[in-house]
Amino acid sequence: MTGKRSDLALQGGTPVRRTLLPYGRQSINEEDIQAVADVLRSDWLTTGPAVAEFEESFAQLTGAGEAVAVSSGTAALHAAIHALGIGPGDEVIVPAMTFAATANCVVYEGGTPVFADVDPDTLLIHPDSARRSITPRTRALIAVDYAGQPCDYDELYGIAAEHGLPIVDDACHALGGAYRGRPVGSLADLNTFSLHPVKHITSGEGGVITTDNPDFAACMRIFRNHGLSSDHRQREERGSWVYEMVDLGYNYRLTDFQCALGRSQLARLGDFIARRREIARRYDDALKELPGIIPLRTGPGVAHAYHLYVIRIDPERFGADRATVYRALRAEGIGVNVHYIPVHLHPYYRDRFGTGPGMCPVAEDAYGRILSLPMYPGMTDGDVEDVIRAVTKVARAFS
Ligand SMILES: *Cc1c(COP(=O)(O)O)cnc(C)c1O
Repeated sequence: MTGKRSDLALQGGTPVRRTLLPYGRQSINEEDIQAVADVLRSDWLTTGPAVAEFEESFAQLTGAGEAVAVSSGTAALHAAIHALGIGPGDEVIVPAMTFAATANCVVYEGGTPVFADVDPDTLLIHPDSARRSITPRTRALIAVDYAGQPCDYDELYGIAAEHGLPIVDDACHALGGAYRGRPVGSLADLNTFSLHPVKHITSGEGGVITTDNPDFAACMRIFRNHGLSSDHRQREERGSWVYEMVDLGYNYRLTDFQCALGRSQLARLGDFIARRREIARRYDDALKELPGIIPLRTGPGVAHAYHLYVIRIDPERFGADRATVYRALRAEGIGVNVHYIPVHLHPYYRDRFGTGPGMCPVAEDAYGRILSLPMYPGMTDGDVEDVIRAVTKVARAFS
């Protein structure tokens, strides 16, 4: 391969791909479609038997006592924070390197997110920073299994236990992963998942919370249904119209046809994860030869679920900065992305909570370097090679 800059699609050269390869997308097969169609022909479109069936399968797979299905990953986080009784005056520690919803859920309940910095090599919450963020008002810690790598929960629980703090695992990246042999979903007091199409399994939109605490589960089932003490199906079975509102809740229900899709997808999770790991190994092998591309580190005892494959660009060695590499790869037809703008840099948090640059220097520095390469189980070997060819082409052109 030549190393001429004029060959780059950015400079008018021929792109590696004509159509943009997305960074993530769903895999739907005929069984998934059949599962949804079956429910559409049944008596229940929502609040029917498919919800409990999906929840049971999900709890079994994650080794959790209970699973509660809700309408999104964001609703799952909101329900978890509500179950913990977080309210005004309470602080919750949140890593800066995550999707905004991880912090927003604390604000929904009137609490204050306190941003902790991350480890430079994993981008997972840094235990020292988490420890330093604890104040007398701290009520919980949210850990994010960034990119699909579970955090070091033994270490985090060591810190949390000193202060009696519960941990929420925002596991939206990590379904199918494991830490020291324990599946993600059974690692924290409450574990939240998203069923958005770019995540490991999808129900269109959807979310799940797992927990071993039956009181939390009961609270969240009421919370997802307006705060009512019984749902439509339970009243139907009793032949009664009476319900009581015992809490302020929301309509965060997941429909039966979505649960049927989720359950059908869950049966395919093992294959999905195996393919994601295969793609990651191919990227690892191919990219280690290129200067200025630094993969994230995977810790010991971790089974990575690879929601994302994130690389860091060292601009000196690569010969171009992240913004340029982003544009160059997009021009080549590779739908790279950036996960994430650190949450404390968003205008809302700056204005409302007085956060800003300098608060989490590691996350801020990483934000200027990271790039997510396409990663989803439906990628063909040809797609994977296109990504490698494009990254190699861009790297050679700039080096
Ligand atoms: C996807 C995601 C969410 C939100 O999930 P939705 O289903 O889109 O509401 C929250 N946190 C993280 C880390 C995510 O990746």
